[in-house]
Amino acid sequence: PTNDDRRELEKGQLIIVSGPSGSGKSTVTKRLREVCTLPLIPSISATTRKPRDGEVDGVDYYFLSDEEFQRRRHAGEFLEAKQVFSLGHWYGTLADQVATGLNAGKWVILEIDVQGAMTVLEDSRYAPITIFIHPGSMTELERRLRTRGTETETAIQARLKTAAGEMEARGAYQHQIINENVDQAVDDICHILQIHKESTSCS
Ligand code: 5GP
Repeated sequence: PTNDDRRELEKGQLIIVSGPSGSGKSTVTKRLREVCTLPLIPSISATTRKPRDGEVDGVDYYFLSDEEFQRRRHAGEFLEAKQVFSLGHWYGTLADQVATGLNAGKWVILEIDVQGAMTVLEDSRYAPITIFIHPGSMTELERRLRTRGTETETAIQARLKTAAGEMEARGAYQHQIINENVDQAVDDICHILQIHKESTSCS
């Protein structure tokens, strides 16, 4: 990256939020955007999985066909893209989502899995704040996946297996938040972000 690239991107702040499916990270980040007084916006990812009930194209994800996803991947439109093997679907962060947000001075939240996070961390243009959301326990995680009621038993088992692997990577994140209570988790994260803002605006 050139100095110009860096200066452009310095206007905003990238935030990576990871955590196993069922850790409640979507609920937490959504609520965070509502209550935390920072210019937070989500980066809307693309996926080849089908929308769940209530999910809206262009809001929750860009729901793409396999062909369209691969076309865009080969065209270099993704900052990172990967197939979650256990789930069988592709997920990816659109470079344009991130660049547009950061250039507008926004704090762009990437809600992505551990591998995607590692790819973004390798890119020296970004100095993301990294947050891992912890479900409390695997028992609690399983309970949440089941009460959500959107997945088949096979999908639940696949997500639990992926979750166990993700939990092992949590040490790579700057902050770990235990989501036993959504409001508390949101407060904790907002506090972390505010402190970051103060420390960077003084330097
Ligand atoms: P879900 O199907 O429950 O919405 O998401 C499944 C997993 O994919 C979650 O761990 C989520 O964080 C991850 N994910 C969602 N979007 C992206 C993305 O753009 N890139 C990567 N690497 N993972 C993503």
